[in-house]
Formats: sequence, structure tokens, C-alpha cells
Amino acid sequence: MENENKKSEVEALKEKLFSSPKHASKILSEEKIKKADKFCEKYKTFLDNAKTEREAVKEAVTIAKENGFEKYSKNKKYKAGDKFYYINRGKAIILCTMGTDSLDNGVKINAAHIDSPRIDLKQHPLYEDNELALFKTHYYGGIKKYQWTTIPLALHGVVIKGNRDKIIVNIGEDENDPVFCITDLLPHLATNQMKRTLNEGVKGEELNILVGSRPFKDDKGSELVKLNIMKILNEKYGIIEDDFLSAELEAVPAFKAKDIGFDRSMVGAYGQDDRVCAYTALRAAIKCDKPKKTCITVLADKEETGSDGNTGLNSSFLKYFIFDLAKAHDCEGTTVISNSECLSADVNAAFDPTFPEVNDSRNSSRINYGVVVTKYTGSRGKSGTSDASAEFTGKIRNLLDTAGVIWQTGELGKVDEGGGGTVAMYIANLNIDVIDVGVPVLSMHAPYEITSKIDVYMAYKAFVTFFNE
Ligand code: MN
Ligand code: MN
Repeated sequence: MENENKKSEVEALKEKLFSSPKHASKILSEEKIKKADKFCEKYKTFLDNAKTEREAVKEAVTIAKENGFEKYSKNKKYKAGDKFYYINRGKAIILCTMGTDSLDNGVKINAAHIDSPRIDLKQHPLYEDNELALFKTHYYGGIKKYQWTTIPLALHGVVIKGNRDKIIVNIGEDENDPVFCITDLLPHLATNQMKRTLNEGVKGEELNILVGSRPFKDDKGSELVKLNIMKILNEKYGIIEDDFLSAELEAVPAFKAKDIGFDRSMVGAYGQDDRVCAYTALRAAIKCDKPKKTCITVLADKEETGSDGNTGLNSSFLKYFIFDLAKAHDCEGTTVISNSECLSADVNAAFDPTFPEVNDSRNSSRINYGVVVTKYTGSRGKSGTSDASAEFTGKIRNLLDTAGVIWQTGELGKVDEGGGGTVAMYIANLNIDVIDVGVPVLSMHAPYEITSKIDVYMAYKAFVTFFNE
């Protein structure tokens, strides 16, 4: 008897003192889990409709307009509760809801990115080789190249013609559309290829997309398959070969978002890094009616290539937006920025039991354990990270706990195993408090990435909580 009492004392003390993360479905009610599942139905639709940064902006505008957002006008003085959006070059968007507080007290920013790893066409893409028509490509972002062969690809993007007319391309998504494909060697003849390292298994210049195989009929001459493809493109889009020079054409996986598992607990789709945070941030932005602080949601481009470029967050577009807003409301831009706070809404790598060796299991995130708060990213001794302060981390911890948001911490792999970065450091460099908050993902950067529906919902909850503090 005495022994049993002692045991319970130990248990009670452990419960009080030890950290004990739990599977979210053990904490949540059946009703809440159903809510999460329902939330992800529209999320899957968004993923299917927004496979590129431009399409994500378009979808965001549609959803924002439906929810009372208007186009931003630079010198306008807005009142609390006003909602507006600003588009940067069709590839990034800022959504803003004015708060009741003065801008001088700072704004709340939620920053996600809407570009994902993919296969871009080169400027001279189309060629014919042995009576096959192919596209030369240059991959975008960090990919394992072998994963992008022998899967159906769709082609998305824009072509600016010689007269500057803009042609929107989206082919491979409709049930009746053709798709495209990068070929790979059959195993029977891959003896030498199989000796290459996985990194070199398929090389960058081998990522050639097959786009046709029938020659232009009733004629003699060379490059007739290429000619036939060019003729089809000319008839469909009115373009000539030189128009590829001023185009942004992106090959992305053609498959649709689906439930994963017998229990349908997960979402499988292309581009969940970081459209999972973009979508949940967007939904949080429209859920924000008359906040205390002005709430800004930025969905940025170029994160996957280091955030450089005028649509990425290493540029000044967010800063300029805030400065302009401050000026129109008789506030000082630097004061507004310096008092602001930001969630860098980006995914983290979930622990994968098939590859446990890359993680410190005590510090890696797990799917179904809630939204991940990542204090620091980077690699090689925290290089390339903003590393949120204990104070700001503590603030976010308190905020999420108080609101009942299920969350966990995460680190991107073991020390010196590799690493990666987010937009957090570029925002921190503006003198803003920032921490990474996002969804854990399995198979990140693969053509098909996996998230847990409960985690997606918890990310949404976290963003809503942050804005409505
Ligand atoms: Mn990301
Ligand atoms: Mn990424």
C-alpha cells in the first residue's frame, strides 16, 4: 500500500515537473477533430488551385475580396476594421486589417511564402533530339532531382509576347489536359547510373521534359517534331519560339491534393511548403475583424531561392508598405517597425521513423503534435538564423497555451546534419521580433508532401490567436 502511494507521488511529481508532449487527437474532442478535417477540405481545393506563386496570389485576392478586402490605396487614412490588400508584381501579396491601436505601437505580421520547389523552363527550352521534342529546364529551390522524373507534370506560368501581350498558361490540371514527363533510365540499363551518388543519380541537365513525338506531316526537313509542337503552341497561345525568352513557365506535379491513410488523417499534395502556412495565414487574416494592433499578412515569393529578388522578403517591399502606411497615418515608419512582432509562418521537418538518424528525437517535431514553434533554424552553429529571444519565445508560448492551441517545438535535424532557413532573419533584420511558427511536414520539398490535418488546423488557430491578442 505504502509503495503504491509512493508511486503515485512520483507520477504526480513527474506530471507536474516533466514536459510531456501528447498526440493531439488524445487531447482534442471528437468535435474539434472533425472541425480540423473539415477545415482541410477547402485547404485541399486551395492547393489544387494555387500551384504557383502567381496562382496563390490570385486565389488569395479572390478569398480576400469575398471577405471584404479592398485594393490598397497609398495615401488613404484607414479606420479600425478596414481591410485592404496590396499586390507586388503578381507574385506576392500583403493583406492588412487596421487595428484600434495607433500604428506607433507596432503592427502584427504573419509572413508565409507561396513559392515552392519546381522545375522552371530555360529561356531556350524547346529542342528536338532523335525525333522527340523536349524542354530544357533549370530546377527552382532545393530538390532531390531523381524524385521529379517519371511523374506527371503540369505547366503553369506566363508568356510575355513581343508586343508585351501576356499569355497565361495552365495545362495539365484539367482531367482532359495532356501532361508532361521527365524520363528516366530503365533499371536494366542503369548499371552505371546506379553507381552515381543519389545526388547525381539524375543530374540537373538531365531534367528534360518530354513534350511531343510526332513530326509535322507531309514535309521534308529537319526538326519536324519541334516544328509540330511550335505550330500547336502557336495555334493555342499565339506564341513563337522567341516568346520563351520572356516567359516564366513552371513545371509542377500534376496530381491533386488527397487524403492520406485509411483514417484520412493526413493531406498529401504538392507545394504544402509553404502553402499550408499561406492558406492558414490567409484564413486567419479574414478571421480578423477589428483587432487591437493592425494585422498584416504577407505571402511572399522567392523564399525557396533565398528570398532575394523584388518579390522576396529580402527586398524592401514589406518595409515600404509599412512606411507608407505609417506616413498616411502620421506615424513614423521606423517607430512602427521597431515595435512590431512577426510570426514567420513556415513549415518544419517532421520526424520520419524510416529515417530517424537525421533527427535529435528529443528536439524534432512530429506530425499530429500540433503547430511547431521553431526558435532557430540555420546550420553549422546557428548560421543564417535570427534565433528568437527567450522573451519573445516565452510570449508566444504563453499566448498559445492560454488560447489552448496545441503546439510543439522543432529543430530542423541534428546539429551539423544539414539545416535550412526561412524568411525570419530578413524580418528580424528590420528590427522586428520574429519567431518561426508552422506545420510539420513529411517528405518536405518532394513532389508530394504530407501534413497532418490536426496540425494544419492548429496552425490556423495559432495565427488567429496571434492576430486577435
Ligand atoms: Mn518553407
Ligand atoms: Mn522550403
